[in-house]
Amino acid sequence: MRKETASTCPYCGVGCGVIIESEAGEICGVRGDPAHPANRGRLCSKGQTLHLTATPLIRRTQRLLQPAWRPSRAEPPQALDWPTMNQRLAERLAALHAQHGPQAFGLYISGQLLSEDYHAFNKFARGVLGTNNIDSNSRLCMSSAVAGYKQSLGADAPPTCYEDLDLADCILITGANPAWAHPILFRRLEAARQRRPEQKLIVVDPRRTETAELADLHLQILPGTDVILCHGLLHACIWEGWLDARFIAEHTQGFAELKNLVRELPPPEAARLCGIKEADLLQAARWFAQSPASLSLYCQGLNQSSSGTAKNSALINLHLACGQIARPGAGPFSLTGQPNAMGGREVGGMATLLPGHRDPGSAQDRAEVAALWGQAELPEAPAKTAVEMFEAAARGEIKVLWIACTNPAQSMPDQALVRRALARCELVILQEAFADTATAAFADVLLPAASWGEKEGTVTNSERCISRVRAAIAPPGEARADWRIVRDVGLALLPLLKSGPGPALLAAATPEALWLEHRAATAGRDLDISGLSYALLDSLGPQQWPFPAGASQGQARLYQDRRFATADGRARFIAQPYQPPHDRLDARYPLALTSGRLREQWHGMSRSGLVPRLFGHTAQPALHMHAQDLHSRGLRTGELARISSRHGELILPVLADASLRPAQAYLPMHWGEEFVSGQEAEAAPFSGVNALSNRAFCPSSQQPELKFAAVQVQAA
Ligand code: SF4
Repeated sequence: MRKETASTCPYCGVGCGVIIESEAGEICGVRGDPAHPANRGRLCSKGQTLHLTATPLIRRTQRLLQPAWRPSRAEPPQALDWPTMNQRLAERLAALHAQHGPQAFGLYISGQLLSEDYHAFNKFARGVLGTNNIDSNSRLCMSSAVAGYKQSLGADAPPTCYEDLDLADCILITGANPAWAHPILFRRLEAARQRRPEQKLIVVDPRRTETAELADLHLQILPGTDVILCHGLLHACIWEGWLDARFIAEHTQGFAELKNLVRELPPPEAARLCGIKEADLLQAARWFAQSPASLSLYCQGLNQSSSGTAKNSALINLHLACGQIARPGAGPFSLTGQPNAMGGREVGGMATLLPGHRDPGSAQDRAEVAALWGQAELPEAPAKTAVEMFEAAARGEIKVLWIACTNPAQSMPDQALVRRALARCELVILQEAFADTATAAFADVLLPAASWGEKEGTVTNSERCISRVRAAIAPPGEARADWRIVRDVGLALLPLLKSGPGPALLAAATPEALWLEHRAATAGRDLDISGLSYALLDSLGPQQWPFPAGASQGQARLYQDRRFATADGRARFIAQPYQPPHDRLDARYPLALTSGRLREQWHGMSRSGLVPRLFGHTAQPALHMHAQDLHSRGLRTGELARISSRHGELILPVLADASLRPAQAYLPMHWGEEFVSGQEAEAAPFSGVNALSNRAFCPSSQQPELKFAAVQVQAA
């Protein structure tokens, strides 16, 4: 009999609801959930084809089905049953723990894990192993947004909601291409503009993307100049008297210092440095400041930068200075890339966070979490974030890496270093749903994980909305839920450790029990969900946090009383000067390379790459360049070129692209070596755009600069 299960799309941070159709233990269809507030029944091309990523054939042939241990990296993995694997792995971990201590361990997890999985990993890392070295691939995605919100508004909390797209009079999209990366939100934006043609849309992007095509004004800035643009816009607002002086006086701090800083960037100079017309900069400033409600949407174009936090802060400065915040339709709105980047932040499964938006650097916060977990204390040693973890492994300081639901041998910057790090580790554990990711070649231990449609829990989307994820069918083979895998190894490990917590730390044995532990950690915090339960999520549907005890529904917007989450309730202006990207353009590397998503693909394509029709739009990777740059190198579309940076090189076909300005290049981020075949693969080993990227990161967020590399292109 056909069964229908309401769940959530596992791709992007829009967090659309899906109805999974299943029959006889297999998924046979998917459609949008009309009751889900994020999408009201709509799905994009990736969501519509989810069932094709979980066919019986794919579940049998593409999935990791059995726990396995490789006797040496040169040998094939040998299958083990779970009890044997758990015991053997616990013994090996205990021996390495005794020999090297807790700081020799690193856990690199994923914004695609459910909040319950995140919580189980966090307890394992900090509680069982005693290390803070747990970080997520959300470090590559949203950590500059986290740092920006915390510095300016006092808490990691997007103050806005999707409804604000309908209500805003001016929308500024910067460093984001929602037409491709957040398609359902973009459809909502298109609908809003049809209903209200007077709504202004400004898009800031070095490329003329499909999003930019919809704009009333496209500011095609030079890559990396975002801070200059925001400072120039603010200068214009000051000069023209477009500020909200009362809001600044009553609800903020630090404006005088910022005013001094932006004095150096009058609109003519800012426009010149950004490579745009002064008149366009002034028009953008006018629309943003003078519209009744202005909303900004932003994503990796701001975040993935060695000055990512400064870019976020510069944008939030504009909102504060113009009073464009804390009202319907107004405010800064970071779009999350991954489906549960927000949940990982809430649960504290990241190096720089503890549960309930606590700070691992605060003794009081550590003590509060220790008390919640029934432990004497939590580890105090500073944590290593994602890039730092792989650097430490490459130096031989981290000996054990446990990687879950992510593929660092493709997605981390500076692949040469990442691969050296993985090769040097004494033990690499890979917990994965799919069998053949690039990282699998480096793994000693393979742990098969359940995937979409097979597991239970919750995720939080870009607008702080918590949705249930539900299992429609059982996982294939011996695959298990991620939380259960790490908990079972933890239970086997605890008796083998010289000192450590009692088994009570790992008592929670269901997703709901884990979620209730997470909920307890939010009580009295900015993200308080004490009033929420699995039962309420089932009966009311998805809910936005905060949802404190006694609430009857979640809160759509934050700070409407104009009290921010700082100690004195005032938001902070952040005066950060412009810093150029880490990679310098020069005669040897004269082209600015940026990267981004395609509409039909997701991350490293371990899931979306299973659906042939998703290659209909773009079948193979190609380096996009301006026709003039191709011509000057004697290249034509389709010919192979050698692309080199200071960090590596690859060989790819080139493609003339009028959406780019001269001296720029663009490469979709999705391809790695597994997905390239034929002539390109023979010409050179290809490990995707991260063969070229550098690992420089933002000093405040530790987010690496995936969005900018200086490259040269020559005929191959
Ligand atoms: Fe899934 Fe994102 Fe598409 Fe919605 S917009 S269906 S969450 S990929």
